Amino acid sequence: MPVKLSDCEWFSKLYQKIYAVVNGRTKSRLPPPSEISVLLPSEVKVSHDMVYGTAFQDMPALWFREIPPDPIVFAHELIHLAKKDTTKVSEEEYAYNLACFVVFLARIDVMPRDILRLFEEPPSEEAILNAIEKVMGLKFNSIEEYFDFTGVIPYFAEYDLRARRVKRPTDIIALSSL
Ligand SMILES: [Zn+2]
Repeated sequence: MPVKLSDCEWFSKLYQKIYAVVNGRTKSRLPPPSEISVLLPSEVKVSHDMVYGTAFQDMPALWFREIPPDPIVFAHELIHLAKKDTTKVSEEEYAYNLACFVVFLARIDVMPRDILRLFEEPPSEEAILNAIEKVMGLKFNSIEEYFDFTGVIPYFAEYDLRARRVKRPTDIIALSSL
């Protein structure tokens, strides 16, 4: 019998904060923890050893290879479980990056109003560059220039060896890496 998330001993402190960040303060993107089932590691067969979690939106249920799950895996699966419009950005890529940001916010106790709004209204490159300028006091002309400067090549971008610079990312999912 699967247990409910609210009954899981490990669902406390950081995990509750992660839930709160994904759920948001205005929209309640997630079902209440008392309605989310957590399937036992042995209850689900996954196709690949690298799969650390899965979300079943219609049950709703979560499955994790390890209990307690890594906080980033937990955030990632909650993002999948949440109600959101995913027509504007690639859900998997976006969730991949956003999960780290969610955990970061939970750790520093910042609860945004509705972080999943980023799926529905992805920020423009200009907005991201303005945010970078505000935080770092440095002006960049493109997101690639920013990554060139930091020396970090995000997994979704490529490095053009000939031009010696980062090529345009497939999506403006860079925001969550900032
Ligand atoms: Zn995923």
